[in-house]
Amino acid sequence: MKPIIAVTANYEEEGLQLKHAYCDSIRKAGGIPLVVPFGLDEADVAEVCGAADGLLLTGGPDVDPAYYGEEPQPELGKVTPERDRLELMLVGEFAKRGKPIFAICRGEQVLNVALGGTLHQDIQAWRRSLQHSQKAPRSHLSHRVRAAEGSRVRAIAGTDTFKVNSFHHQAVKDPAPGLRVTAVSEDGVIEAIESADGRFVVGVQWHPEDTAATDDVSRKLFEAFVDACRR
Ligand code: MN
Repeated sequence: MKPIIAVTANYEEEGLQLKHAYCDSIRKAGGIPLVVPFGLDEADVAEVCGAADGLLLTGGPDVDPAYYGEEPQPELGKVTPERDRLELMLVGEFAKRGKPIFAICRGEQVLNVALGGTLHQDIQAWRRSLQHSQKAPRSHLSHRVRAAEGSRVRAIAGTDTFKVNSFHHQAVKDPAPGLRVTAVSEDGVIEAIESADGRFVVGVQWHPEDTAATDDVSRKLFEAFVDACRR
């Protein structure tokens, strides 16, 4: 049996929107992606979690800073209340049941906020940094990250330093209780977080779905996630 992976999407006026690359990467790693619609209540989300083997939180706009106790700064981007509500419920439910979570870009930020962490609303407003909103194509690996000794990301990558693409203007500030920082870029921006208890709960600030076809580390991240969902 292939594991079923609940996948979140963007909330747009006319409907939900999702790049094919997310579901393609799950399929190629051996899982069946199932996109979660909007408008579910808490009981619905609990049933979705019961039916799925893992959760993929995808990229997208900014999380409402109210969820981490801040007022909106001028640099805050678009916020999608419907999506925040759904994803925060999903993280709560999957975390409660100990099911694997893989969180990409906005997903990593949602994961952190859902579990009690905070974000930088805008990296450049915080301090001058590397170019994290790359102008190169999505498939281009633009900056290095260094993975922490003993981390899952380090083990999956098979190396402590590797290159990633970068399309974010926010980043994790304080990791949530129970999560640890497992990769940073050279300017000190947090690029990956994961569960400290050994469960597969991994968030990455980059977009491995855009490079899974050409980059080993990206492909191995999806394979490790789907493997964890099989157990
Ligand atoms: Mn980056």
